[in-house]
Amino acid sequence: MSINKEKYSEIINELKGKATLVAVSKTKPVEDILELYNLGHRDFGENYVQELTQKYEQLPKDIRWHFIGHLQSNKVKYIAPFVHLIHGVDSFNLLREINKQAAKNSRVIDCLLQVYIAREETKFGLDGYELNELIGSLPAQQLTNIRITGLMGMASFSNDSDLIRSEFKYLKALVDKHFPSTTNNPQPATLSMGMSADYRIAVEEGSNLVRIGSLLFGAR
Ligand SMILES: *Cc1c(COP(=O)(O)O)cnc(C)c1O
Repeated sequence: MSINKEKYSEIINELKGKATLVAVSKTKPVEDILELYNLGHRDFGENYVQELTQKYEQLPKDIRWHFIGHLQSNKVKYIAPFVHLIHGVDSFNLLREINKQAAKNSRVIDCLLQVYIAREETKFGLDGYELNELIGSLPAQQLTNIRITGLMGMASFSNDSDLIRSEFKYLKALVDKHFPSTTNNPQPATLSMGMSADYRIAVEEGSNLVRIGSLLFGAR
């Protein structure tokens, strides 16, 4: 297997100035990752802890590894030394564990809270109410080794682009509500939404980080 270089340049040009591309390399061999790396790409996303740690060991150390899967608390310790951004945080206990492991590694780990936006039962994440609760409870907790920099979500697996668009709009509204940019904090929040099938809609709706696998690496 080998990567689709034309598609890669096309997507990079399309996203320029709008969104960061995280190349989702789960199940793909390190050779494929190196091909993209050699084109200058540095942001890669993985879903499984064991696969991620193995790839981390084999690949150049300036890769920014994004953990985009469902993270179990007992596995945080394996990725805490090096992970760049954890996308799918959906519980307070998990945040506390990330904070603890980050402290052990003398790091501050950036996290995104995952919001449940799809009309499907299978996806993880907080609903709007739980998100409110979690964000409201944070200041009292003094989790000084994590930084919550924005939100992540996955739209319904559907051909209905109006449905997908409305789900992305909802997530954008939540990020604007909970992470407003201010003069003290001009850095815009990270809004991780959009995959191979729906990244164009996501970017139109305000995504600034897309997670794309199969368009670059082929079907899994
Ligand atoms: C696998 C995966 C992706 C990439 O999916 P593609 O459809 O291959 O682009 C993006 N985000 C998450 C959370 C994933 O698990």
